[in-house]
Amino acid sequence: MESTARAFKHNATEALADPNLQDSLAKLNLDFYLEEFERKVVALGGHVHWAPTAEDARRIIADLCRSVGARTIAKSKSMVSEEIGLNDHLEALGIVPIETDLGEYIIQLRHEPPSHIIAPAVHLTKDQVADTFLEHHRALGFTKRLTERNDLVAEARHVLRQKFLDADVGLNGANFLVAETGSSMLVTNEGNADLSNTLPKMQIVLASIEKVIPTLEDAAVLLRVLARSATGQESSAYTTLNTGPRRPGDLDGPEQYHVVILDNGRSAVLGTEMQDMLRCIRCGACMNHCPVYGAIGGHAYGWVYPGPIGAVLTPQLLGVEEASNLPNASTFCGRCESVCPVRIPLPGLMRHWREREFERHLTPTAFRQGLALWSFVARRPKLYRRLTGWANRLLATFGRADGRYRALPLATGWTRFRDFPAPQGGGTFHAQWSRHGGSRTRP
Ligand code: SF4
Repeated sequence: MESTARAFKHNATEALADPNLQDSLAKLNLDFYLEEFERKVVALGGHVHWAPTAEDARRIIADLCRSVGARTIAKSKSMVSEEIGLNDHLEALGIVPIETDLGEYIIQLRHEPPSHIIAPAVHLTKDQVADTFLEHHRALGFTKRLTERNDLVAEARHVLRQKFLDADVGLNGANFLVAETGSSMLVTNEGNADLSNTLPKMQIVLASIEKVIPTLEDAAVLLRVLARSATGQESSAYTTLNTGPRRPGDLDGPEQYHVVILDNGRSAVLGTEMQDMLRCIRCGACMNHCPVYGAIGGHAYGWVYPGPIGAVLTPQLLGVEEASNLPNASTFCGRCESVCPVRIPLPGLMRHWREREFERHLTPTAFRQGLALWSFVARRPKLYRRLTGWANRLLATFGRADGRYRALPLATGWTRFRDFPAPQGGGTFHAQWSRHGGSRTRP
């Protein structure tokens, strides 16, 4: 079977036929660095497994766990494991995955998906966490409902410490895979990755193909950028480098070291206008600054990756047919692009998805006809002003008593979930602008 790295190389070669892309692809060289990384890991005594799809990754990890008779695995934070639905798969096979990142642990207890890529339980209050711990830790002898944050953290630490000791396999994600040394690099603020990496006899690293970077020097730059953009820290509290299995003379470390590298549709964007999305370092800054994310929260995005990067990534991973509403959930204010430390043109990428949705006729007919009508009117300013003036007067007259509409023809998509405010009188924006002496031409 052609490995993911070779498939990646094939896509790159095809794309290099396009002179516009030659420069950017030459800089990427991901195929080269992936194979370099594999060579280094193998030379260190580890194993690299190429997983073209999520299903392949789940199967590879389950086989590895079964090969050592694993009953429990200790996991450090890994968005890719969320992406491939690993926990449900392992549980169905009788293997218990334990999330050891505090936020991930809390949402695992509550059977909820993460609502943020670096703060998965940010949607919960302290009291909700206290109730969750009381419900799930009671059987372990913790019968008091805690009210202080430090006490909650101490209780979670106490419960998790035994889980680390019991685990047969440690599984963690990777912020970066360093081709130069064959190392996987993971940052945490809790140090949980260090325990899940060193205590169990087998370590599995699960990462996607775009995580590979050439050298440790590159990692030093990216680590600083990541911490500043993610949490405003100078650097994360813990940076863990894993470089192969335990060597003779080492005091601890896993006997087996496996790296599972997932493609899951990523190599297909190489050489397309969407390839910029592969630069993402999952810092979360775009969602922290997104007014839509701030208003609706991470769960409203319906899958693993929320916020602007989710609106770009999810249609690629699930198909635009499945996730076409996400690129439309944007005001295009541009804040995400301006705060992104690796300058991913997120609004532009969302616009590409909208174009593809339109080309494939995925938008409802009524919506397309409505857009065509709006486009016709908007290009005729006099007609636009007359029609919007009439509509404004009509809505203000009939909505005056209530101040809002609970149902409105042509706006049911809105009024099904919330009221539509009635205009307060005074005319349209154009009319008020003219009354206040505004000019119709730019200064
Ligand atoms: S798109 Fe940019 S800002 Fe958003 S998570 Fe990725 S690197 Fe961070």
